[in-house]
Amino acid sequence: MKVINSPNEMQAVCKKLKKRSTIGFVPTMGFLHEGHLSLVKKAKEENEIVVVSIFVNPAQFGKNEDFSTYPKNIEGDSALLEKAGVDLLFLPTADTIYTKDHGTWVEPPSSSNILCGKSRPGHFRGVLTVVLKLLNIVLPSKAYFGKKDYQQFILIRNMCADFNLDVEIIGLPIIRNGEGLALSSRNSYLSASQQKGAAILQRALKSVVSAYRTEKVTDPKVLLSYGKDILSADSSVEIDYLEIRHKDFLQNVEICNNESILLVAIKYDKKVRLIDNIEFDEVL
Ligand code: AMP
Repeated sequence: MKVINSPNEMQAVCKKLKKRSTIGFVPTMGFLHEGHLSLVKKAKEENEIVVVSIFVNPAQFGKNEDFSTYPKNIEGDSALLEKAGVDLLFLPTADTIYTKDHGTWVEPPSSSNILCGKSRPGHFRGVLTVVLKLLNIVLPSKAYFGKKDYQQFILIRNMCADFNLDVEIIGLPIIRNGEGLALSSRNSYLSASQQKGAAILQRALKSVVSAYRTEKVTDPKVLLSYGKDILSADSSVEIDYLEIRHKDFLQNVEICNNESILLVAIKYDKKVRLIDNIEFDEVL
């Protein structure tokens, strides 16, 4: 696996590779786990060359967020990626991605001012800008994103369509631990017993979807009350949002159906923000 730091060198290498191979790309912020590796595995299956980037993007963190403490383990990550058969690892620094002349930003649509877009002002502006830059540097035919960050996946897919980018955006299922907690680099902020407790998230999500399936409840308000009851019984949970939306563009829904998605964000034990979601047609 070749490691490249410079955006210019990365782009030059990828330009050459693109002439004779398909490039699959997995952008990450590192501290890798099986969720990231599931994206790499799919990219390996579908492309001749696989590129992974690790970049903790300062532009997508708010002032009081965890940019400076975000977990890192470059050596461990490199070993995992090497073992997974990744061809190129892109490890840029913030000052080469955001040079002193950098002045243009991708403004997310106003409709994205919901869910995480509402709770984390400026977050998706930072995400979309860096993803656009990374796609232009790596020039992939396909780029892989986890549906754990569902709103992010939709916004990136829409940005690529809006800007006519020649790349296919692929969203892949959430990978969870044995207790049902969605894997996340931020889970490392939680102790083992807190991680056990945080698995309540998936139980809450499942209770909503099973009420839809087995009791045929379709009123979003009624369905949400099932999830709220479970989450509010746990004093460690502070709900940021719990919402049902349409999975295409995250529009509001009046009546739930198989195209609905339930999305949740909580703060666990007053310190760690966790997000999760479940699609109504997902196997429980
Ligand atoms: P991050 O390093 O958190 O920016 O994540 C990089 C990519 O991995 C994003 O597309 C995430 O949605 C995806 N990802 C993170 N956690 C998971 C998970 N548990 N299952 C599937 N994909 C994930």
